[in-house]
Amino acid sequence: MNIHEYQAKALLGEFGVPISKGFPVLRPDDADAAVKALPGPVWVVKSQIHAGGRGKGKFKEASAGDKGGVRIAKSPQEVKDYVKQMLGATLVTVQTGAHGKQVNRLYIEEGSDIDKEFYLSLLVNRETSEVSFVVSTEGGVNIEDVAHNTPEKIVSFSVDPATGIMGHHGRTVAKALNLSGDLAKQAEKLTTQLYSAFVAKDMAMLEINPLVVTKQGQLRVLDAKVAFDDNALFRHPEVVALRDETEEDAKEIEASKYDLNYVALDGNIGCMVNGAGLAMATMDIIKLYGMAPANFLDVGGGASKDKVAAAFKIITADPNVKGILVNIFGGIMKCDVIAEGVVAAVKDVGLTVPLVVRLEGTNVEQGKKIIRESGLNVVPADNLDDAAQKIVNAVKKG
Ligand code: GDP
Ligand code: MG
Repeated sequence: MNIHEYQAKALLGEFGVPISKGFPVLRPDDADAAVKALPGPVWVVKSQIHAGGRGKGKFKEASAGDKGGVRIAKSPQEVKDYVKQMLGATLVTVQTGAHGKQVNRLYIEEGSDIDKEFYLSLLVNRETSEVSFVVSTEGGVNIEDVAHNTPEKIVSFSVDPATGIMGHHGRTVAKALNLSGDLAKQAEKLTTQLYSAFVAKDMAMLEINPLVVTKQGQLRVLDAKVAFDDNALFRHPEVVALRDETEEDAKEIEASKYDLNYVALDGNIGCMVNGAGLAMATMDIIKLYGMAPANFLDVGGGASKDKVAAAFKIITADPNVKGILVNIFGGIMKCDVIAEGVVAAVKDVGLTVPLVVRLEGTNVEQGKKIIRESGLNVVPADNLDDAAQKIVNAVKKG
């Protein structure tokens, strides 16, 4: 689960992490109070979406202006103008895809006088089973580019969970950032605070880009991106409360209610498959025949008829879906249960696109019979190759 920058900063603030003072703005009227509560003379108006690259992003609407998704304002009037322009507009960044994301929230922050911009992140390192720090003097820019062009400018180390964070970790961070004196002390303190927050809140990733040194000699977190480990959310109701469902795909939210492994994609062929490996193979073969999948969906092993029906409804409700391919290799999952789920869903919501069904394995005959006798307009297929060709052809004709 992801949260907004302003939520991440508030959370880090609880651990003593130095952040700027700021206020979220959900309605244009909120801007007045925010400006009054911040001293100025410089304010930063920041788009809050679950995607990076906002500063260099572009709004789709001409009325939102061409100054990107993070703007420096020099007067209260300028703040209000930016709020009016940006709130509700659609921001396209390198991470949103071409369709962009609607900006429903802004964050107004006191401006910082930046001297240097650094990069610092923490993540769960799957190879060492430890929390790793990634630190670089090259902040504010794309860290992937730094890793590619000047890898020597990235310092990384892991923290042994048995000892926890120690003084030398903080000193390593300070050294990596070429900091000395009081700034080194600030970096050491920050290292401990970030690690504590990361572990206490069961984060999966915490990325600060940029971490800045202000002209007044203060280290400050200027941007923060946090992702939480979904498997640990049950012990953090305070984190779950930060969830912004408007940032998530409605179909994925629905699928999560049924415990389905569903990921929305950009193509036109809806897929219902059992097993992640088979689902990937199905997506590959759809691509091989010239179209793209509208989703990844693994209905899992022992899915019930209701779960299958829910999955089928999520697929049919997607306006991008121009054809559906059901590809089931029944092992633990039984073909007749799949067939019953599909038939039940179609009874409820109808079916306006071509449907190709390939069933194989446990109870395959019963499954085929249920579909045959349902009166559904189904194209049967014998194997995966045949099924993929049939659905692609049906959609192209359609
Ligand atoms: P991102 O583009 O989504 O990563 O958003 P950031 O929060 O990182 O903001 C982009 C850039 O805006 C930062 O790298 C800074 O250079 C700049 N920026 C953000 N806040 C301030 C501020 O308070 N003062 C100044 N001068 N620049 C800022
Ligand atoms: Mg940033």
